[in-house]
This record gives sequence, C-alpha cells and structure tokens, in this order.
Amino acid sequence: MIGPGVFDRLEAGGHEQVVWGADRATGLRAIVAVHSTVLGPALGGTRFRPYPDEEAALVDVLRLSRAMTYKAALAGLDLGGGKAVILGDPRHLRSEGLLRAYGRFIDSLGGRYVTAEDVGTDQADMDVLRRETRHVTGVSELLGGSGDPSPATALGVVHALHAVAEHQWGSPSLEGRAVVVLGVGKVGSALVGHLVASGAKVSVADIDPNRVQAMVSRHGATAVGVEEALTLDADVLAPCALGGILNATTIPWLGCRAVCGSANNPLAESADARRLADRGILYAPDYVVSAGGIINLAEELVGYDQAAATAKLAAIRTTTANVLAAAAASGVTTLEAADCLAESRLRAAAEATGGGAARGSPVGERG
Ligand code: NAD
Repeated sequence: MIGPGVFDRLEAGGHEQVVWGADRATGLRAIVAVHSTVLGPALGGTRFRPYPDEEAALVDVLRLSRAMTYKAALAGLDLGGGKAVILGDPRHLRSEGLLRAYGRFIDSLGGRYVTAEDVGTDQADMDVLRRETRHVTGVSELLGGSGDPSPATALGVVHALHAVAEHQWGSPSLEGRAVVVLGVGKVGSALVGHLVASGAKVSVADIDPNRVQAMVSRHGATAVGVEEALTLDADVLAPCALGGILNATTIPWLGCRAVCGSANNPLAESADARRLADRGILYAPDYVVSAGGIINLAEELVGYDQAAATAKLAAIRTTTANVLAAAAASGVTTLEAADCLAESRLRAAAEATGGGAARGSPVGERG
C-alpha cells in the first residue's frame, strides 16, 4: 500500500483516511479505515482474524469500511462508515494488554472512528477497550451500553421480511410462508424464534449440527442440509452465515423466490444481483436488511434506551420497501437502487456541509 499509487487507491474507493497502529510489546498490528465522515463519525466493528498477508487485511478493511458508509446512510443515521482489522489469530493473540493498546490507538483518532464488535471480537473485548477510550459501542449494559447487537439485527431482518412479503405477495404477513434460515448463530437463531412466532414454516441449516438441533427442539423448525437449503422450494432464503454464498455457481440452483437475511456480502460480486433478478428472485440488499445492529449501536451514542432503539428498527421495513419499489420502477437491480438512494443522501449532505468536512467525537459528553 505504501508506495506509488497510495493516494490513487484511497481516492478510487472514496476513502478519507487509513491509519496503521502497532504495539511491539503486545503484538498488536491493526488498521483503521475511515471511509466517510460526511454524515458523522465513522462507526464500524473491529474484525480480529489471521489474514494471509497485510494486503489481504487492507483490502478487507477498505471494502468493509465503504459498506458501512452505505449502511449508515440508508439507515438514516448521522454516522459515517469505518472499520478496523486486527491482524492475527484471536485465540492466540488476544490479551488485555493488546486490547488496551488497541483502545489507545482508537482513542488517538479523537472520535473520527467509533468501534464495535465484529467477527473475532465480542462484548467482553469492547468492555476492555472502554477502559482506554470512549469511542466504542456494544459495551455491556453494566457500563451503560447496549450489549450484543444480534437480537436487534434479527428483529430488523423481520421488518425487512414484511416489506419483501408485501412487495412480492401483496401482504406483509409471514403466516404460512416457507422460510429457510441458513446459519443459526446469534442472528439466525433469534430470527427463527420470531419467524415461528409469526406462523412461518421454518427450515434451518448450519454447519454446526448442535445449533440446528437446538432450533428443532426449541422451535420445532425443520432441519435441512446446507446444500439442500439453497435448492429447497421456499418463499424466502434468509442467509445468516458468512458471505459469498450467492454466486454464478449457486444462483442457478436456488429454489427460493426471495432472498432476505443478515449475512454481510452474501453476493460474491455485484453482478450476482443481476443474476438473481434474471431468475425472478427478489433480492433485499444485505446492508439494508442487516442495519438493526448499527441502529441499536447508534442509540448508545445518545444514551441507550432499549424501547427507543427497538422502535427505530421499524424504519428498516420502510427503507426496504422504498428500495424494492425504486428498483421495480426504474428497472435496475435492487442493489443498484439501494446504492443510488444511499449515494443521493451522501451527496446532499456533502453539498450541505460544503464537501463533507471531517467530523469529531459523537460521544464527547459521555464519561
Ligand atoms: P455467528 O457466528 O453467531 O453465526 C453464524 C452461523 O453460521 C454459525 O452458527 C455458523 O456455524 C454458521 N455457518 C458458518 N459457515 C456456514 C456455512 N458455510 N453454511 C452454513 N452455516 C454456516 O454470526 P452472527 O452474529 O449470527 O452473524 C451472521 C451474519 O450476519 C454474518 O454474516 C454477520 O456479518 C452478519 N451480521 C451480523 C450482525 C450482528 O448483529 N451479529 C449485524 C449485521 C450483520
């Protein structure tokens, strides 16, 4: 990255700032990418994982931080997009010292970047970071935080599903709808509970058979294999595992009529949105559907109130409906329609603020 073309690369992605942080004593190597502060301070999680090399880590943090800008913009939040990665295997490298060094690194950015949990980090890690910086969300309730965002994310998916059902079948009801939940971890398992309560016919798949079994015994869901989940005749496929599962190979097999789940980047590439549309499968864009977590975290920045946060999740239904309607009206894919709506909000804010000056701390008043 450092070398000729470094600024071209940042400008190509529209990134404002990339910061490297290291601490030799604890082995910390981290990268923070601030994609945009046009709408407000850049909020996004910290991913802690062993990347094959530094370039792979950089590519990931640039991609993820950009996606956060779009997610916050479309969710109507006054937040920008950012993301951070810590390079290494959290099972071996995680220590209080490393996390505290990382917390000081975040603090040095003065609130331009606000972190949260992501793959490889959890609420306990956020509590450690909180000892070094105020610019962290998703800390435990005891520390005045909102805790795990997954229940809010799951509820947001339900709101999106109502919009999908209304658009596709003329009624928001999920009663009797066949829904396949692929991945029943923190978000997927909570989603299954809501779906069963709504009268949906729920099938579940996961690479972890214990998690599948828990859904069968707790909610009466039907267990299916991971590959079968893709081909099963269903109204909706809800991907709630990892990204990239919808691609040129899998899309021709899909047995569903709509896709709506929490998984980040379920499409391997943006051309897959066209592949889905060409097959008549309605795709609710991931970053619209999975905004419940960030909506919940954003409430923490103004003093967390669970009832207020839960009420705000309903906006996901309206936003999803707007995206689906805009795509239908203009003949573009739902992904293009979502990008277009997010970009028009960003453009309007940039114009109003004279080009999007850098933003400071959103949590300045909080002890
Ligand atoms: P999680 O790790 O708790 O659950 C993921 C589940 O997927 C696990 O049960 C795992 O066994 C299963 N899985 C992994 N690979 C699989 C595969 N190939 N096939 C089937 N199952 C597989 O994660 P989570 O917090 O529930 O998040 C799920 C997805 O939603 C992720 O893509 C995450 O980035 C996204 N997301 C989560 C949140 C949140 O609040 N947790 C917010 C926004 C987006």
